[in-house]
Formats: sequence, C-alpha cells, structure tokens
Amino acid sequence: LFDFQGKHVTVAGLGVSGVPAARVLHARGAVVTVVNDGDDARAREQAAALEALGITVRLGDGASLPEGTELIVTAPGWKPDKPLFLAAEKAGVPVWGDVELAWRLRGHDGREAAPWLAVTGTNGKTTTVQMLASILTAAGLRTAAVGNIGVSLLDAVLGEEEYDVLAVELSSYQLHWAPSLRAHSAAVLNLAPDHLDWHGSMEAYARDKGRIYEGNRVACVYNVEDKATEDLVREADVEEGCRAIGFTLGAPAPSQLGVVDGILVDRAFVANRQKNAQELAEVSDVNPSAPHNIANALAAAALARAFGVPAQAVREGLRAFRPDAHRIAHVADIDSVAYVDDSKATNTHAAEASLASYESIVWIAGGLAKGATFDELVAKSAKRLRGAVLIGADRALIREALARHAPEVPVVDLDRTDTGAMLQAVTEAKRLAQPGDTVLLAPACASMDMFTNYNQRGDAFAAAVRELEA
Ligand code: ADP
Repeated sequence: LFDFQGKHVTVAGLGVSGVPAARVLHARGAVVTVVNDGDDARAREQAAALEALGITVRLGDGASLPEGTELIVTAPGWKPDKPLFLAAEKAGVPVWGDVELAWRLRGHDGREAAPWLAVTGTNGKTTTVQMLASILTAAGLRTAAVGNIGVSLLDAVLGEEEYDVLAVELSSYQLHWAPSLRAHSAAVLNLAPDHLDWHGSMEAYARDKGRIYEGNRVACVYNVEDKATEDLVREADVEEGCRAIGFTLGAPAPSQLGVVDGILVDRAFVANRQKNAQELAEVSDVNPSAPHNIANALAAAALARAFGVPAQAVREGLRAFRPDAHRIAHVADIDSVAYVDDSKATNTHAAEASLASYESIVWIAGGLAKGATFDELVAKSAKRLRGAVLIGADRALIREALARHAPEVPVVDLDRTDTGAMLQAVTEAKRLAQPGDTVLLAPACASMDMFTNYNQRGDAFAAAVRELEA
C-alpha cells in the first residue's frame, strides 16, 4: 500500500478520472500537480475548482514531468508513448491509472474490501457487467456495475455505500495502467482489433487485456469460440486452484457453460454431484436474444456462479436486465422499414455482430477508424447489404472496402461533417430502403470527428428518424 502523506503526485489529465483522483489524493495529504494538454473553457473551470483547494494545475502542458514527481496517476486514455511517461520511466517514477488507484485504496478507512468480478473484451463489456450486476442483485448481494458506466470506481471504493461484490468493467487502457489489480474472477469476452493506434500492435492490445486474469483467485472465464481469449488464460499467472471456465454458444464440455436446446446450461459449477449439468435460464430470458448477447449472458452467469450465486438468481437477474441506450435500439418503423440505432458499434467487430442480426440492411457507417481495416467486415456482411450511406472522416476506407467486396451495393458518400449531416444520411438511407429492410446505424468507427460521443451520434440518428416520420 501507499502512504500519500507529503508525496508529490502528478495527475495526468483533467476530466472524469483526473478530477476525482486529484481530490482524493489531495485529501490524503499528497502534494498534487495536475497536468493537462488542453486549456479550453471547460478545463479552466475544472482547474479553478481544484486550485481553490490548493492543488496546482498546469494547463496546456501535458508533456513535461514536474520536478520532484514520485508517482503519476494518469487518465486511462493517455498514450504510453507520451513524453511524460518516457520521462517517468527514465526517472523510475511509477505510473498508475484510475483503476490502480481505486484498487490500492479499497478496504481503507476500516471498511471491508469488496471482491471484484472483472470484465473486459473488445465488445459487450458494458452489457455483460450490467447483466452481472443484475444477477448479483437478484441473489440479494449489495453490488454495483462500475467502471466506464454508472458508479465510478473511486466512488465505489471510497463512497458512503458498502458493497459485497463489485461488477467491474475494464478497458484495455485501464488494464494497461493497473499493474497490481487482482480480481476474484475475470472474463475476457472476445478479442478483435480495436484501439491499435493506442496500443501499437494487436499483441500489445491482447497483452493488456490479458492482465485482467493475473492473480485471479477463483475463475478465469474465456470464450470457447474465440481462441485468443483461451490463450490469454493459459499465459496468465493465477492463484493456486483458480479454474479456467469456458462459455460457448454450443453444448458445453465439463468446466464450461453453454446452450442446449434453447437453455443456458452450467457444467462448471454444479453443486449437486449427482447431476452433471445445471440449467440456468432460457435463451428467451436474455434481452435481446441475439447470439452475441447470449454470449454476454453466459459470461455474466459464469462470473456470478464463480461467486457462488444460485441458478435461480441467474434466471431472475437476466430477466430483470434491460439493455442500455444506443445498443441495437429500435427507434421507429416508417413505411415498413425499421430504423435501428447501434451507435455503440464503434469498431468492426461490434458492427459485424450488429449486421449479422438483420437480413436486408441499409447501413449507415463511418467516423474515426482508429487504425482499423474494413475488408473482413464488408466481405462477411456484403450479402445483407441493400445499400450503404457513409459519413465521417475515414469513410473512404469503408468505401474502398465496399468497392472491393460488394461492388454492386449502391453507396452514398456524404462529404460533410456539420450537424445536419445525420439528417441527410438518414434521408439517403430511406431513399435506398425497401419494405422489410432495416436502416441500421452501426458505424464501425468512433464518433469524435463529428460528435461529442456515441450517445450524441445515436441521439442525432433518432432525431433525424423522427423528423422523417413527422
Ligand atoms: P462495450 O462496453 O465493450 O463497448 P457494449 O455492451 O456497450 O460493449 O456493446 C457495444 C456494442 O458491441 C453493441 O452495440 C453491439 O453492437 C456489440 N456487441 C455487444 N456484445 C457483443 C459481443 N459479445 N460480441 C460482439 N459484439 C458485441
């Protein structure tokens, strides 16, 4: 553990993790300096509030290492190759992310430290963590879905509320900066190229994801259909007795959860030794019951079962679960065409799951590609495409992939990034669509070239659809 009294700590980045981190460290007696690249109006406002507490803030200067720094606590998104971190490495200064800070502070102030059930993966994290929290709640446990959603990790660890167990969503960035994290049990849902511009390579990305298994006590949950996740379990250094537990959309082997005749079945944590399988829930208990979401439900069930939750609570928890906004959300039907918002499909792997859920699609896609390529996605989805409408900065990459693998599909290329662009995109999509089709926003890209985030992009889509409806 770390005594912060009088320690010189540099917090890298204002914002959702930096501001609370600076406050917590300051309250524990650290001498805090916040460094931040930007100095826009919002940064100035946040800086003023921290300065009022006696915290030093350097705006527009995120590159240099402040004199005397003994520890850096960084916002998860900051790239490891920034000069600040290179200087820290040279000087032997440790770097923690917000997750590492929360992990180190848990169980302080005379409180019990709640164990963490952790989830990562390229796609499905939020959904799985919310399903898991719903299952744990159904089992009568005090819990919360924490991480990128709902309660922040620092609040969960230090706030008023006490928890028996936490359902923790972790991004690859957060894992990169969380060297001492040790979960009770953890799951990697899937591994596909994403954020490669940040991590540098697929190997580095996988390595960061794999950190989630390090030191697990009870179970490492992996995806039987995604061998890369199983490889990560094999490479991890875990506590003695920790088990590898697979989940599959097919029939489960021993030590796996899977699906038999429309029923989610557990062959890993069977209490009654006379039986070799435990029925958990029906496929129809999962909402929506698309294949990728059944996989999420099985992963959530595996973690809950590793924590000792009975089968009945798995069923109740899955039934009570409602998906978040912008995840395959049905917006409207107009002239027998369905309009679906999957703005959260911010990479090709998510968009693939999304496109696989419909038969005949007018696809609205594009944005920031984050170093991704689109050939595989387009080749796999080509036969489902009625047409495509492309928006955003990197739309040419998708246009070229369409030309290579789906030359007959009509493409509308929208060369504008203003706020009216989405209305035009939806209007063009409506023109291409025929009765029975689905107009699907599944951008396969990040949104920040045109929008604040995927929420705003999804809201713009829904607003445009309503305008067409009116
Ligand atoms: P994350 O938190 O990892 O971004 P979400 O649960 O928010 O994941 O889902 C993001 C998007 O990924 C969804 O809108 C859907 O398109 C897709 N998705 C969800 N679960 C899976 C999965 N298991 N495999 C592939 N794609 C998925």
